[in-house]
Amino acid sequence: MSLRLTGIKKHYPDFKIDISFNANDGEILTLLGPSGCGKTTTLHIIAGFIEPGEGRIFLNDHNVTYLPPHMRNVGLVFQDYALFPHMNVFSNIAFGLRMHGWSKKDMEKRVKNLLHLIRLPKYENRIVTELSGGEQQRIALARALAPNPDILLLDEPLSALDALLRKELRSEIKRIQRELKITTVYVTHDQEEALALSDKIVVINDGHVEQAGTSYDIYNRPKTRFVAHFVGITNMINARVTGSDGYFTELTSPEGSFTVHFPKKLARGSDVVLFVRPEKCLVKKDGKNMNTVSVRIINFEYLGDSTVITLSLKNHIFTAKLFGTSSFTVGETVKLTFAPEDCWILENTQDV
Ligand code: ATP
Repeated sequence: MSLRLTGIKKHYPDFKIDISFNANDGEILTLLGPSGCGKTTTLHIIAGFIEPGEGRIFLNDHNVTYLPPHMRNVGLVFQDYALFPHMNVFSNIAFGLRMHGWSKKDMEKRVKNLLHLIRLPKYENRIVTELSGGEQQRIALARALAPNPDILLLDEPLSALDALLRKELRSEIKRIQRELKITTVYVTHDQEEALALSDKIVVINDGHVEQAGTSYDIYNRPKTRFVAHFVGITNMINARVTGSDGYFTELTSPEGSFTVHFPKKLARGSDVVLFVRPEKCLVKKDGKNMNTVSVRIINFEYLGDSTVITLSLKNHIFTAKLFGTSSFTVGETVKLTFAPEDCWILENTQDV
């Protein structure tokens, strides 16, 4: 089932949403953005709990904008599980099925299959309040999936769990989503979760879509400073285009000249931002390649699998992330370099 939101607007006294995006059939789409940017409101508009002021919502080209929630066939999972504490696992999962008039035999079969899917077989008679947070969230997922929804909506489903469990459960959610091929909208403010889970990420800022794209594009090809910053540590330098042929672009900046592999011809003289992620930065004793500048090492952080080095350029502080350990010392002057293929240009120079 495909999902399409076109020109959805909702105005509150102090907040406005103006959003369009689409998810293809079987895709997992993540709404990613900071607290208060409008993710939950958007999810509730899709579910039918909130009516938009303008715009339309389509499920497989069928306009559902004014359908009540129970006629949209969506499954919902919330951050706080929202299981019924006085019911056992079976009754929680079967709740929606009972409402739809399923027979006892069919409910038993369906619940058994779902418990198998979420890898909690034979949990039917367990008391939900005696289950761990991770188990409760799996049950909540099974309950949402029970009536075979066309779309699954997940609102920060992992945020109440500890870090290790979050990672474990996010790959479980991905596995189940893939297995069922169910179109899913997932809400989170956690960039790593979004990058790991999504076929498509929609980055939301202050009620509007900042950028929509694959995890790779959002991380490596951000269009705005907001997106670049929101999905990871970022190094940026304001620069000016001195030449561009639609393949390589030459830039000049107070830090020096740079060449970027950029598949678009840019106007000579235009102001842009040079962008490079820490793990694309190489730090060497010396070097004369293109995109090489002298830097001073001002800090080290050894993280076990990597070393994060803070570097002082003429007017900027850069972060480099090197694999494993490093033999440099604080105060040392070294060369920072990155390949034209490993950096990018933001045409939008506005500050966030
Ligand atoms: P969080 O991650 O903290 O849940 P969010 O991105 O999901 O945030 P929303 O809950 O959608 O954000 O809220 C977006 C904005 O809309 C907030 O500023 C909120 O105060 C405002 N808002 C939400 N519902 C209402 C309402 N019924 N009346 C007025 N303002 C509202």
